[in-house]
Amino acid sequence: MFNQYNLEEIRDRARAAFIGMAIGDALGATVEFMTASEIASKYGTFRDIIGGGWLRLKPGQVTDDTEMALCIARAIVKNQAWSVEAVADNFAAWLKSRPVDCGDTCRKGIRAYLLNGQLESPPNEWDAGNGAAMRILPAVLFSLPDGELLKKYVLEQAHITHNNPVSDAACLCLGELLHMALCGAGKNRMNRHVDGLVARFPTFTFVPYRGLATGYVVDTMQTVLHWFFRGRSFEECLVGTVNQGGDADTTGAICGMMAGAYYGMDAIPKRWMKKVDGKVIAEIEIMVERLITASPVWRG
Ligand code: MN
Ligand code: MN
Repeated sequence: MFNQYNLEEIRDRARAAFIGMAIGDALGATVEFMTASEIASKYGTFRDIIGGGWLRLKPGQVTDDTEMALCIARAIVKNQAWSVEAVADNFAAWLKSRPVDCGDTCRKGIRAYLLNGQLESPPNEWDAGNGAAMRILPAVLFSLPDGELLKKYVLEQAHITHNNPVSDAACLCLGELLHMALCGAGKNRMNRHVDGLVARFPTFTFVPYRGLATGYVVDTMQTVLHWFFRGRSFEECLVGTVNQGGDADTTGAICGMMAGAYYGMDAIPKRWMKKVDGKVIAEIEIMVERLITASPVWRG
């Protein structure tokens, strides 16, 4: 049957998005919580995956950003369907496994699930961290290209830990941008889509860029959008992003998914590809294949 989408191209972009996320996480973690000027005086321009950082990581080790995304991916693949309970179960098992890092809001939400089976955190105006946005990619891939499914999956996984209108807006905008990039949209179209987010939530304005890269989802989105639209390659987008410091593993992970989806596998530097934990890459390859082939775009 005729399919308007180029499935091989989508598969390539989806792999690059997920691997790009892990690369951004592993790269940025070294400089997480440093300021841009501290990074500049220590490294000049920071551009290699070397581990270390405040978490004392091995070179190529990923953190909670990639691990929580894999929790969501495994839940979908195992059930061959969306189940927010399965996602929460995987988050809970992950938290019990003593992960290398876990954000406070994520920990609080997962504990509430463990204690009372709470799948939706109560609305909270303060929980506008980037912890729900950083892990959305499996929901984005499994819903492709259906905007309604995207909204359901992205927000249900978010609300396990973060129930906040600004976090929700960031998650949805990011998910929509990823759908666009995966289907081959250009940056001009994507930029016009961001204009819609900024019109509804002026706080997301990233021109002029203020240079804040904290874990507040507004700062995170401004940093990612600034460097994604400004960069001329996968590498430039990521190097610009993580050199802002702050929550650099998470801004790196989010920019990595965007730039991966946009530029595809050929644009990913081999030196980064080789450095990231091989077990993580191998699992990502399997998960992406299963998520994509179970998505509406594949079924036509
Ligand atoms: Mn992290
Ligand atoms: Mn982080």
